[in-house]
Amino acid sequence: MKKPRLIVTNILVFTITGIIALLGVPIEGFVNGFDFFEIAMCIVLIYFSGMSITAGYHRLWSHKSYEANSLVRVTLAIGGAMALQNSILHWCSDHRIHHRFVDQNDKDPYSAKKGFFFSHIGWMLREYNAHRYDDYRNCKDLQKDKIVMWQHKNYLPIMLTANFGIPIFLGWLNGDILGMLLLAGVFRLVAVHHVTFFINSLAHIWGKQPYTDKNTARDNGILAFFTFGEGYHNYHHIFEYDYRNGVKWWQFDPTKWLIKALSFIGFTKNLRKCPEERIERAKLAMMLQKSQDKISSLPNSDELLNKLQFEYDVLVSKMSEYYATKKRLLETKRDSLVKGYESLELAYKYKELKQSMLLQKQKWIELHHLSFAN
Ligand SMILES: [Zn+2]
Ligand SMILES: [Zn+2]
Repeated sequence: MKKPRLIVTNILVFTITGIIALLGVPIEGFVNGFDFFEIAMCIVLIYFSGMSITAGYHRLWSHKSYEANSLVRVTLAIGGAMALQNSILHWCSDHRIHHRFVDQNDKDPYSAKKGFFFSHIGWMLREYNAHRYDDYRNCKDLQKDKIVMWQHKNYLPIMLTANFGIPIFLGWLNGDILGMLLLAGVFRLVAVHHVTFFINSLAHIWGKQPYTDKNTARDNGILAFFTFGEGYHNYHHIFEYDYRNGVKWWQFDPTKWLIKALSFIGFTKNLRKCPEERIERAKLAMMLQKSQDKISSLPNSDELLNKLQFEYDVLVSKMSEYYATKKRLLETKRDSLVKGYESLELAYKYKELKQSMLLQKQKWIELHHLSFAN
């Protein structure tokens, strides 16, 4: 089959910016050096344009995992254009298809099953999806957002102004326009390009699958560090409407922290979270499956398999009872009429259930580890 035609503009942009970042920037650093202000502005703009993609393009617009006021949306639209990854509308349309048809080579625009190079950058070098340039039917909701449409219609001037205007202005303030353009302009652009591209390539190849193995997405803490928290991609592909990707409080996810911090001053609201019970159950189901796969190859596996399944069922039922009680307890706390004895009794029951559920969980996890011991 004949390959689709090359997209010369994209190839030139990636090649020229790549060469400048790899050669021009080190030469400038060697000859003239970079001062503190230039390095600081480069880091600030890496976070600004990178997180406009992760908090804006990705979690706000593609997945609607929270709502943001106009000021936040305009800022993210400008920062996203600065990251040079096409308009919000186009990016989200691609991304929604990626989630819906993940790993299906004929549909997923950056299917990881087509290899590292393709999912990283190759998919943008040829006209693989030319038919979709004006088909945004999967983003009807976004077409009602005036800021999205303003950015889409004026993408080129906004993108050029942000990429040249901001570094030139900062360089002028600092008395060295070229140095700022090289570091906070080009180097920053290339760095953000590749770290965000890693989410489509490496985050589908390298890491663990604690929540699901129905697709190639992986959880990877190292990658999360470089991708503003998006390295927890296995979690993201199963619970895509959650505003968090690193779901545990200690998981490095600055995008989640930004969205949450903005909610304290009322700039963002309706942050969506997947109920803890569903997250826990997905994780346990995955552990059960891994144990079963491991054990079934052993001789006389039936007894152990039955035991594993039995303890799992006990754990799941204890868990649902615990979460149901937790919910009721929270409701009674909200409802000021139910006080005294009834709520006290419920609180006691909740504590008991929690203890018993945790014990069962410990027992089951030991059994799970045991299945990997032989
Ligand atoms: Zn996504
Ligand atoms: Zn993905």
